[in-house]
Amino acid sequence: MVLDTQQKVRRLVVKVGTSTLTRETGSLNLLNMERLARVLSDLEGMGYQVVLVSSGAIGIGTKKLRLMERPTELKMKQAAAAVGQCMMMHVYDKFFAEYNRTVAQILLTGEDVDAPVRSEHLHNTFESLLELGVIPIVNENDSVSSAEIETGQCKVLGDNDTLSAIVARLCDADLLVLLSDIDGLYDADPRTHPEARLIHHVEEITPQLRAMAGGAGTWRGTGGMATKLNAAQLCLEAGIDMVIANGSRIEALYEIVNGADIGTRFSGGR
Ligand code: GLU
Repeated sequence: MVLDTQQKVRRLVVKVGTSTLTRETGSLNLLNMERLARVLSDLEGMGYQVVLVSSGAIGIGTKKLRLMERPTELKMKQAAAAVGQCMMMHVYDKFFAEYNRTVAQILLTGEDVDAPVRSEHLHNTFESLLELGVIPIVNENDSVSSAEIETGQCKVLGDNDTLSAIVARLCDADLLVLLSDIDGLYDADPRTHPEARLIHHVEEITPQLRAMAGGAGTWRGTGGMATKLNAAQLCLEAGIDMVIANGSRIEALYEIVNGADIGTRFSGGR
């Protein structure tokens, strides 16, 4: 099935998780970062306005600092994020520059989005950058943010799934794509249930769907399906389509913007 979205999608937000950007060893996945830069640059050249929401700061900082494992203490996570964010932007800047694209860094916290004046400034900044043909790269300002602290096993700082939906709303996007280490939303956990089936289309986030999605992600990232459903809810409320797809095939973005039936699409009223 191909949805008739070609005319509709003009402004696109793509979110990539730490598991797409780093290897099992914690090193950068340069192949994926390069592919991402190439595909997003190409989409920009095709007339789409593109915003990238990128995780990875803590994971990349952990490796760069030669820490044995991802830190658990908040201040160490914040320190790792400060180091990793810098390295991550350096690599993005380099890869996007290969395709003659300019990127910008935007770091934000929950408070920035909640405060009306700050959020208006953010909105205006996105508008100006996109008008200038710049590709904004967004992450949570992990070194100052502690608003969304949770004491769960893997989630301490805020999650970028929710952040990306907030960004999609802030910049009036038409589509949010979450590139993950999973093909989409399944009716059971495919890691433990091989018979699990992919759900292609969701119109509404029901309590049953939430129960089905379960929790946690991998050690390199923080999100799981629960945070993706929060993001979907925020998008559905704002009339923005959202797709969860596997980040191992970044070229799928070409088909996704054309409405191809890849991963799980959340869209109301179809
Ligand atoms: N902002 C965190 C980072 O860049 C990750 C949050 C997430 O993976 O959702 O490391």
